[in-house]
Amino acid sequence: MPHDQDQAREGRGIMKDKHILVTGGFGFLGSHLVERLLVDEDARVHVVDNLSTSPLDHEAFVRRVNDPRLTYDVLSIEDFFARGSFGPYQEIYHLASVVGPVGVLGHAGKITKSITDDTYRVIDIANRTNARLCDVSTSEIYGGGRDGYCSENDSKIITPKVSVRLEYAVAKLACEIALVNTCKVSDLFAVIIRPFNIAGPRQSGKGGFVLPRFIKQCLAGEPLTVYGDGGMIRAFTHVIDVADGIVRAARHGRRGEAYNIGNPQNKISIRELAERTVRITASESRIDYVDPKALFGPLFEEANDKYPDADKAMGELGWRPRFDLDTVIRDSVEYIRAGRLD
Ligand code: UDP
Repeated sequence: MPHDQDQAREGRGIMKDKHILVTGGFGFLGSHLVERLLVDEDARVHVVDNLSTSPLDHEAFVRRVNDPRLTYDVLSIEDFFARGSFGPYQEIYHLASVVGPVGVLGHAGKITKSITDDTYRVIDIANRTNARLCDVSTSEIYGGGRDGYCSENDSKIITPKVSVRLEYAVAKLACEIALVNTCKVSDLFAVIIRPFNIAGPRQSGKGGFVLPRFIKQCLAGEPLTVYGDGGMIRAFTHVIDVADGIVRAARHGRRGEAYNIGNPQNKISIRELAERTVRITASESRIDYVDPKALFGPLFEEANDKYPDADKAMGELGWRPRFDLDTVIRDSVEYIRAGRLD
C-alpha cells in the first residue's frame, strides 16, 4: 500500500528528499527507528534529543551510522522549539519522553507537564510544517485491559491507586486524546502507536527494564531479581519490529487512530522469562524472588499484566512481527556481551 505522496512522486517520476524529524532519536527505540528510516534512499533524518534517557554513546552511534543524511541537535524539545524555525518536514516521529518504571520515579509530579508541554510543541511544529505526526504513546494507557489483554476498542481504565507510573500513563493518554481531537478540528494528520514491552539491542536496565537486567545478572553470575512471585504477564517485541510498526503507522495509518504494536506470540510470565534467560546465556545464576520496593523505594509500582491484540496493526498496516522471543533474548545478550554503546 504505497503512501499517496510516494504514488504522486512515482507518477511524476520525481525523487524528492523526504525530511523527517525524530524526537528522542538517540533513545533505545529512537536509534532503531532512525536506522530504519535511513534505509529509504530519499530519507533525511534530523534527531532532537537531550540525551537525558539515552542508553547510547550518541557520537559513536552517529559515527557507526556514518551517513550525512543523519543530522542532529542535542537539545530539549523546549530549546529546539524556542528556535522558532523548522523544517521542511514531511514526517515527525515523537518519541522523546521520560521512560521506564524506575526511570520515571525521579520525575514524580513533573511528568504530566513535561509530556504534555513537549507534545503540544511537537503538534505546533507539525502544524507549521504540514508534516504527518506519529506519536509514540504507551500500552500503560489501558491500565491492564481485560486480564492483561488490551485491544484498541477497550476502555482506558484509570486505576484507583495513584502512583508515579499512573502519572506517566495518564499524561500519555491525555496527549493521545488531545491529538485525536486536534485532528478533528484542524488539518493535523496524526497517528498514535502504543508499544508493548519493547526489547532488544541497546536497551539499558537503567529505566528498570527487565530483560537487560536479567541478562546482566546472568552474565555476572548474580541472582536474577524476579519481583513478587514472577507471575506477571508481558509480551516482548523486538525493537526492530516496533520500529517497522511505527513507520508503517505513520505512512499507512488512518488519521486520528491508535495502533497497538506488540507481538502476542511472545507472551510469557516473568518467572518463565527468567528461566529462559538463564538457559540461553548458559548461566549458573539462581532465581531470587524479591520485593521491588525494597530495591527502588515505596514509589515503585507494579503494572497490571499486559499483552496486545495486534490485529488492527496487522490488518490495517500490514505489520508482521518477525522475531520470536528467543531471538529477542539472543540479540540482547549478544549486544550486552559485546559491551557496545552504539
Ligand atoms: N521485573 C522483575 N525483575 C526485574 C525487573 C522487572 O521481575 O529485575 C518485572 C516487572 O515487575 C514487570 C516485568 O518484569 O512485571 C516487566 O518489567 P519492565 O520494567 O521491563 O516493564 P513494564 O513493567 O513497564 O511492563
